[in-house]
Amino acid sequence: MNDLSAIVTAIAGEMREVGSRGTVADYIPPLAAVPLDKFGMAVVMADGEVHVAGDADEAFSIQSISKVFALTLALGAVGDQLWERVGREPSGSAFNSIVQLETEHGIPRNPFINAGAIVVTDVLLGRLQPREAIGQMLRFVRELAGDESIAIDETVAAAERETGFRNRALANYMRAFGTVRGDVELVLGTYFHFCALAMSCRQLALAGRYLMDGGRSDGHRIISEKRARRINALMMSCGHYDNSGDFAYRIGLPGKSGVGGGILAVAPGIASVAVWSPGLNESGNSRLGQMALERLVQRTGWSVFEPRAI
Ligand code: GLN
Repeated sequence: MNDLSAIVTAIAGEMREVGSRGTVADYIPPLAAVPLDKFGMAVVMADGEVHVAGDADEAFSIQSISKVFALTLALGAVGDQLWERVGREPSGSAFNSIVQLETEHGIPRNPFINAGAIVVTDVLLGRLQPREAIGQMLRFVRELAGDESIAIDETVAAAERETGFRNRALANYMRAFGTVRGDVELVLGTYFHFCALAMSCRQLALAGRYLMDGGRSDGHRIISEKRARRINALMMSCGHYDNSGDFAYRIGLPGKSGVGGGILAVAPGIASVAVWSPGLNESGNSRLGQMALERLVQRTGWSVFEPRAI
């Protein structure tokens, strides 16, 4: 057992002992049913070595982590034109907030809040039918993870459709400004299916390799180096909503969270890391997930702000 697997195993052990685990997302009923004591962690190194601990092979709802994959696909489809309809600034607001949209003419602050991801989905539907866009997403994450078993949890997608009143409000509001151009229900149905992707920590960390390795996954070019760098920058500044500054301060890695309790974090050139614990903090980010990443970075020195020899 090398140092890193000892570190990952130790962190998973420590997380079992933490009493205050946050609260599960209760506005999407199937997510409210996930046991609070789950914890998983997977670290995929640049050389392909994988270290896992806890419930690392149990699939969970990746929710907003899918916003990273959707952004990657939309940039591939329309390139920088995307930025005419969505911004690149942290919002400082909750993930499902509507407040900025009125004064900012229906243009969401960034692609990682709900409003932004709904626009990104609408952009994808400019060229594809919903079924094709969902199929493209599924093929993309399967290819990235090298795992054909990844699937969408239809129960979660249906529950989101039933309870998605805020998302419906956001989408309709943006439709009035013309930032969303397609049929609102089709856009939302596609967005909910992206959010309902079910993946394990191992699968997610494998899928994140292209962001760790300058746009390459397992040696294959997925996106350009420049694009990978830019997506990482957005994850650092916007990946945890109104908690993004604190995540950068404590962890110092590009990361994206989801209300299913997962976080994908990337140490460029070093490792792709996924953690999962369903209890959330006030901003809707995994409480133990952040704690585990903070300990990992403290013990490895992987923060991008750590001085490195050149
Ligand atoms: N599907 C969730 C929603 O739209 C995603 C939110 C999240 O993970 N932060 O509300």
